[in-house]
Amino acid sequence: MSGTARGLGVSPGRAAGRAYRMARPPALPPPAPVADAAAEIAAAGEALRSVAEHLERHAAKAADPEARAILEAQSMIAADPMLLESVEEGVAAGLGAAHAIDAGCARHREALLEAGGYFADRAGDLDDIRDRAVAAVLGLSMPGVPDPGHPYVLIADDLAPADTAGLDTATVLALVTLRGGPTSHTAILARALGLPAVVACHGAAAVEDGTWVAVDGDTGELVIGVAEDEAARVQHEAAEARERAAASTGPGATADGHPVPLLLNIGSAKDLRPGAEGVGLFRTEFLYLDRAGAPTFEEQVEAYTAVLRALPGRRVVVRTLDAGSDKPLPFLGLPEEENPALGLRGLRTARSHPEVLDTQLRAIAEAHRACEADTWVMAPMVSTVTEAAAFAARARAHGLPKAGVMIEVPAAALHADRLLREVDFLSIGTNDLGQYTFATDRQHGDLADLLDPWQPALLHLVHLCGEAGRAAGKPVGVCGEAAADPLLAPVLVGLGMTSLSMSAPSVPAVRAALSTRTLASCAEQAHLALTAPGPTAAREAVTTSTR
Ligand code: PEP
Ligand code: MG
Repeated sequence: MSGTARGLGVSPGRAAGRAYRMARPPALPPPAPVADAAAEIAAAGEALRSVAEHLERHAAKAADPEARAILEAQSMIAADPMLLESVEEGVAAGLGAAHAIDAGCARHREALLEAGGYFADRAGDLDDIRDRAVAAVLGLSMPGVPDPGHPYVLIADDLAPADTAGLDTATVLALVTLRGGPTSHTAILARALGLPAVVACHGAAAVEDGTWVAVDGDTGELVIGVAEDEAARVQHEAAEARERAAASTGPGATADGHPVPLLLNIGSAKDLRPGAEGVGLFRTEFLYLDRAGAPTFEEQVEAYTAVLRALPGRRVVVRTLDAGSDKPLPFLGLPEEENPALGLRGLRTARSHPEVLDTQLRAIAEAHRACEADTWVMAPMVSTVTEAAAFAARARAHGLPKAGVMIEVPAAALHADRLLREVDFLSIGTNDLGQYTFATDRQHGDLADLLDPWQPALLHLVHLCGEAGRAAGKPVGVCGEAAADPLLAPVLVGLGMTSLSMSAPSVPAVRAALSTRTLASCAEQAHLALTAPGPTAAREAVTTSTR
């Protein structure tokens, strides 16, 4: 087939090549009587052997040591004689090869779980081995990331974190998923890897393996059935754009020299990069994940100091704990809620656990005193002026010089001017602001169009905050995923944003995009986006004005 399918562009850039689908796990055929048990055993054995060899080959090629270790361990399990024995027992009990593999893997999985410790951790690998071996015995394509032997565009329903271990960035040119939204795992991974990506692209279901396609991670367009020479042209232009982005260095600024600090979103000191202008969002909850109790005061001081010490004289915006909803933190013992996104989360957890916030502010202040960074502190999920004022008072009482709040709730955006009378700065979390403005769960892949950061209503709220910042003479930035979109970044600046914060791999392309627009043209593009009837029209209007 040929034509154009549309989804949501979530990781910028263009790419073209042959498309290959990630095969789904195979379904078992209906059970049938076994005519030749020896032949079934031979087929099952051959399937397990081929899976073990396949995984071993991939392990040898994996650049990441962690991915290599996972694949090597999987290969050893597939080759385990005890697994084959279980499968043979299944055939002896009257099962065909595919069913015997399924039953044998299930038994082996149980045994690993019973063994506990390291073995129990590997039990999940059996599902993947089962899927691969069943596919091999049924003559279907191997599930998981395809390996056509040349660079290709990967099409998948969605990508699970485990799929990414096998993702070879030297051969995957772009990602297109049928499901997923702008904050899905696929989107975050693609941006981290610098791969163009389109999500929520239902039309991609029709693409047959080997079809030439062109992917535009800015506009969300998937052109199906491009000519080979057109694909080569797209690849050539994409390589030139990457070179231009890599060549742009230094602080962020518009073409006429208006500075726009490009800051990093980090979870810990290991996400910092040399030459960073600063940190616009330090997500401290990563320190609290996967643990039964809160980190101690000393542990916190150490983690905050590691970041602040690395950036003397630079801005570091530390966000206090954002627990609840999509970031459950068991140690708080929060009650089960029917609707956690609308419940006790973010700053609201300080209503029931004020001591957790106070310990954190005390630890940030201690780290601040020991370092020379320009430390700012902000609270997540603030809805009212009262909450903002109380947070700022608390932060200042701990000796922290700059206190601000995130704008993630429409009520806060609508009262940005009043909030700025109480706090020193605002930082807009477009991921949550989109979720709450459009009443759409941010993880809901099927409603991804409503979470599109180009939605004019969302941009309108950003504009209100920008105007409030201008009037108050105080900084207002964006630290949600929207800031990482090089086409949207100039629009955000035109809406009054004074800084943009994103993960490190997104910085070069945003810097390059800003450096080609004057502040006046950013304002013109902001007007085009704000007045467009919808997100697709907004993108188109801005793209056209850029060309
Ligand atoms: C946001 O909501 O945009 C944001 C930056 O916060 P988080 O993604 O951590 O919820
Ligand atoms: Mg948020």
